[in-house]
Amino acid sequence: LVSRQVKAEDTVLDIDGVRIGGQERPVVIAGPCSIESPEQMEQTAAFLSARGVRILRGGAYKPRTSPYGFQGMGVDGLILGQRVARDHGMLFVTEVMDTRDVDVVAEHADILQIGARNMHNFALLREVGRARRPVLLKRGFAATVEEWLYAAEYVLSEGNDEVILCERGIRTFEKWTRNTLDLSAVALAKQMTHLPVIVDVTHAAGRRDLLVPLAKAALAVGADGIHVEVHPSPATALSDNEQQLDFAGYDAFLAGVGAALNVP
Ligand code: PEP
Ligand code: MN
Repeated sequence: LVSRQVKAEDTVLDIDGVRIGGQERPVVIAGPCSIESPEQMEQTAAFLSARGVRILRGGAYKPRTSPYGFQGMGVDGLILGQRVARDHGMLFVTEVMDTRDVDVVAEHADILQIGARNMHNFALLREVGRARRPVLLKRGFAATVEEWLYAAEYVLSEGNDEVILCERGIRTFEKWTRNTLDLSAVALAKQMTHLPVIVDVTHAAGRRDLLVPLAKAALAVGADGIHVEVHPSPATALSDNEQQLDFAGYDAFLAGVGAALNVP
């Protein structure tokens, strides 16, 4: 179902007027790694919406490496993310990690994110396939392109054809970046499937100084959008403080990437 042999033309999602895929202008998905407080979300949404960003991200359920790390605000975070996004005319995307949470996340989010660590969670893929919400499907950091596309197939096979693929870097022997952005996977996914493909430069690089060239490269190979983490105060963020952009950093990022992302 994901294949271009089945459907030749690009799938273009229209989520409350926000169009993703095809020949549309690339979208920006931005926001903090974790939802932490009303002030943090309010400031971020006000800043980003003033720059034309229509999709606000923020994790309420966080897949942390350590069980002792901040695990997210849960339902309170969902409520907060939804409210702040609405107040600023934005869509809200957030990760769902557990089949038991799909209903509550779908109640509050406009787009359900499947994180890299859950790309192989077939029960979860089926469950979001039954939800009436678009799905942002991250590639697992050790998944082949074939496995990633089969993961998307799980969602489509349950009747949900609103899937956005997201390349977020894979694990290689390289240590100077957190992951290795796989641009071939982006080009391949665009060629082999009709689904929109976006690139998460933040988790791919794991460092701020590479975000501009990686975003430019992603757009050059045909990505339909860029996913980037933005936080009012990355240094005090409860997760991913090495890589989130502050507001000045986001403006510099926009200026660096240039016209393609200067959303009207
Ligand atoms: C995220 O986007 O918040 C996240 C945890 O990313 P990934 O699943 O790609 O690691
Ligand atoms: Mn993060």
